[in-house]
Amino acid sequence: METSKSNYWHSRAQRVIPGGVSSPVRAFKAVGGTPRYFVSGAGSRVTDVDGNNYVDLVGSWGPMIVGHAHPKVVEKVSAAMSKSFSFGAPHPNESLLAESISQRVSAAERVRFVSSGTEAVMTAVRLARGATGRALIVKFSGCYHGHLDSMLVSAGSGVATLGLPNSPGVTAGQVADTVVLEYNNFDELNELFSERGSEVAAVITEAAAANMGVVPPLDGFNEQIAKLCAMHGALMILDEVMTGFRVSRAGWWGKYGSGWQPDLITMGKVIGGGLPLAAVAGRAEIMDLLAPLGSVYQAGTLSGNPVATSAGLATLELLDQDAYDLLDKRAGEIGDAISGALNGHVVQHSYQVAGNLFSFFLGCSRVTNYAQASTQDQTAFKIFFNSMLDNGVSIPPSAFEAWFVSTAITDSDVETIALAADRAARSVAQ
Ligand code: PLP
Repeated sequence: METSKSNYWHSRAQRVIPGGVSSPVRAFKAVGGTPRYFVSGAGSRVTDVDGNNYVDLVGSWGPMIVGHAHPKVVEKVSAAMSKSFSFGAPHPNESLLAESISQRVSAAERVRFVSSGTEAVMTAVRLARGATGRALIVKFSGCYHGHLDSMLVSAGSGVATLGLPNSPGVTAGQVADTVVLEYNNFDELNELFSERGSEVAAVITEAAAANMGVVPPLDGFNEQIAKLCAMHGALMILDEVMTGFRVSRAGWWGKYGSGWQPDLITMGKVIGGGLPLAAVAGRAEIMDLLAPLGSVYQAGTLSGNPVATSAGLATLELLDQDAYDLLDKRAGEIGDAISGALNGHVVQHSYQVAGNLFSFFLGCSRVTNYAQASTQDQTAFKIFFNSMLDNGVSIPPSAFEAWFVSTAITDSDVETIALAADRAARSVAQ
């Protein structure tokens, strides 16, 4: 495959951008080779600067759920852009999107827009501390909640991909205020609350962990977090930045959350339809502690931007039940094709699913936590990844990430993926 123009742009980028990238995993450090420099996307496919075309199973890490440059999204965004890119003042689209979110997710009684998932989590953490007057935040190893200091302790996603246990620059104070427990470990969770329950401001968890590869919560795990938080006066922050509006019209909680309720929910990715938009949402009495009603401060020059909110509105309008049925069907077809190819070439793996998110742990049997996820065969993944790419399928360049489908995937794309997977699995087996 011709990559000379991507090579050229990568050398040029490396002279002015650290590692040549605006976000670490994009650098292909874990998989080798040159990152592709993309110039266009249409529906399920993306094209790089050398003219190579790929089926896209990254989808900008989640937002491109209806595919690239969907005509209805382009139309709304263009209309919004023609009226101004930003007012730095209230505008109707904000209320329309907040209402749409609130109607879909009943636990989102109030919604405050920000520009990234990191900001949403940062706001939720501050709000939880402000509301409870406590400092301690509990998180789970291998879960990723953005790059704010307190959440970089034992994080997933790029932090796991690059094997960085903790980032320099995170102060001892932040580390001391963060307790890290093993994901899906009920005993550790119960013990922490029985010993330090009165100190806990919040427990934050991914609704279904998908930043150490896909590791769904065990039955009752999220519910137990909600129960312990309620008993001890702590808040539960459910991070739906990845799962929100992806696995169902009301996110993970809307689909699997019967009998328990988070206090705060963080959202991002899909609600911006590919433009920078995220949100923190939750119970009115907590959310109303935010300035200007309350004294917990949060702000943003571009927050709730009119162009981003129009992209979000257009995207959510396209996501009816038929769209979710289609996403589930495509995820099943693709996941089954990959797993079938790996089985066909006798490559041991665990195929893990959370709604329409899925990933494969090569060399592993079932994975329920980060310690197990870390034992996967990353060398085999590297071979698998590069073979898929060479055969026209772009998958996340890391063994610690979920794969993302869009409604734009066609039957012919599924065939391309199945063929590429057969070749990739053969390369791994050799
Ligand atoms: N929370 C989760 C669960 C995520 O997956 C991510 C990003 O992948 C974030 C938070 C951070 O979002 P952003 O990259 O928009 O800052």
